Amino acid sequence: MTNIGIFGANGRMGRNLIQATVEDQKATLAAATVRSNSPFLNMDAGLVAGIGEVGVKTSSDLNLMAKTINVWIDFTLPEVLADNIDYCVEHNINMVIGVTGLSAELLEKMQQASKHIAIVFAANFSTGVNLLYKLLEVTSKTIGEDCDIEIIEGHHRYKKDAPSGTALALGQVIADALDRNLDEVAVYGREGDTGERDRKTIGFATVRAGDIVGEHTALFADIGERIEITHKASSRLTFAKGAVRAANWLSEKQNGLFDMQDVLGLKELNI
Ligand code: NAD
Repeated sequence: MTNIGIFGANGRMGRNLIQATVEDQKATLAAATVRSNSPFLNMDAGLVAGIGEVGVKTSSDLNLMAKTINVWIDFTLPEVLADNIDYCVEHNINMVIGVTGLSAELLEKMQQASKHIAIVFAANFSTGVNLLYKLLEVTSKTIGEDCDIEIIEGHHRYKKDAPSGTALALGQVIADALDRNLDEVAVYGREGDTGERDRKTIGFATVRAGDIVGEHTALFADIGERIEITHKASSRLTFAKGAVRAANWLSEKQNGLFDMQDVLGLKELNI
């Protein structure tokens, strides 16, 4: 069994992570943290998640829990992640990280930490999106040079970063497949007299509205035909289940930085 601790238990993802952990047959919910001033402090984590009591109380004191945890799952916010990484390295506990909108410094910190502990980091933990990466690789290699490529993403009104980490990851997969540097070819939104489109660019368009959980479309448009590959998430539980699967996969690992493609074995899949 994997003893799982969840940072930020009362967040939108935190609540789903509690449910996914409790429902997983290979995992046990061992700890769930909230901020020290949170109204959810000392509450049963299952009640926080809206699934009924599970017998684990939320806490803000990490030191009480360190010894019993195999993997911490972190879907909090970039400003808290650095401290959480330091804590996990100090106590030699593996991590699943789903926080998006990370700075280059935080990505570097994660890389350094992975020399000591094992980490799965993914901008998107859904199986469908990770399969999408594979489909985009094939599509890019087959018709990418002939097409204008755009990525359109939509999320709920509360999302703080744009474009989404998943949209950027999709762009990276396409850029890698076409041997382009994403920093050089990415165009984030358009306005005014933009001139004609440069075929080499990869465009990003962002929608923020209502309660959209997460939608991503990669558009490959030639003259005369186009392909649109779309993924729509309708529940955050899909990300949470992926994160718990990653935590189980990690429990035997010593160190290293992995992604969801590793967890799902998609890197070996030749399609
Ligand atoms: P949220 O705002 O609902 O939750 C954030 C959590 O962080 C809350 O529990 C909050 O209490 C906690 N937190 C914030 N500041 C804190 C602090 N100073 N100390 C301790 N805890 C603190 O956000 P959300 O919608 O759950 O998303 C969280 C993150 O997960 C975002 O970065 C989002 O983009 C990302 N996300 C990733 C995936 C994926 O598959 N990788 C899927 C969905 C969301």
